[in-house]
Amino acid sequence: MNQTSDWGPCESCKWWQVEPETVPDKHILGQCIDEKLQAFELSLSGDSGCNRYMKGQPAKARGAGEQPPVAQPTR
Ligand code: SF4
Repeated sequence: MNQTSDWGPCESCKWWQVEPETVPDKHILGQCIDEKLQAFELSLSGDSGCNRYMKGQPAKARGAGEQPPVAQPTR
């Protein structure tokens, strides 16, 4: 895999948002609420990732795991 130094997985990114009752891991779906990416309504599993990664706890909101995601960004 060709990773840049900024790349990281959604599973541990503060811009990943998942359903409130879920424990974030690589197999569940969530949405990306990064300010520049949220317009694309990305639906991503925990082992997805990108170079806008920022280490932190994923956010939680109902509807984040739907396809397409319907939750409002909480950050
Ligand atoms: S797509 Fe990138 S910015 Fe969005 S949650 Fe995943 S790693 Fe974070």
